[in-house]
Amino acid sequence: MSDAPEQPLVIDLRSDQHFMGQALRLAQRAYAAEEVPIGAVIVRREQIIARAFNQVETLKDGTAHAEMLALTQAQSALEDWRLTDCDLYVTKEPCPMCAGAIIHCRLRRVIFGCPDEKGGAAGGLLNLLQHPSLNHRSEITPEVMREECAGILQSFFRERREAAAKEKGKTPEET
Ligand SMILES: [Zn+2]
Repeated sequence: MSDAPEQPLVIDLRSDQHFMGQALRLAQRAYAAEEVPIGAVIVRREQIIARAFNQVETLKDGTAHAEMLALTQAQSALEDWRLTDCDLYVTKEPCPMCAGAIIHCRLRRVIFGCPDEKGGAAGGLLNLLQHPSLNHRSEITPEVMREECAGILQSFFRERREAAAKEKGKTPEET
């Protein structure tokens, strides 16, 4: 077991943990909607300007990742596609599609919870956010509230596996 850092007694409302906590609440809403539980918020000058969660199933759109929906919201809010003074908090390391969009929108910083070694594009599988030949690079703060962000994904997939196994185990009479 690793030593978990002690929780601060007073939560700094501007801290990374605070905003990641907000992203996690959105991930819980995705969970409730039977979506893979990933949430994102975009913060500008210590204020949340966009909140979104994964809606791939609901919208029947494979691009409806939390980050993509949050980017669209933030651009509408600012009436500008340049999000140069904005930071994105997301519960899981962004995929290559989202990292590409983040670079196009020129976000200042990306803060993520759970790393994704197999598919992440913020240093996991590859690092698109800081690719030397692209014309913008975002700062990366990894593994903020990692345990909580990974935990919600693990319980979601465990529940799905159990439901699938139950379904499979049924005799024809029961179905
Ligand atoms: Zn994505």
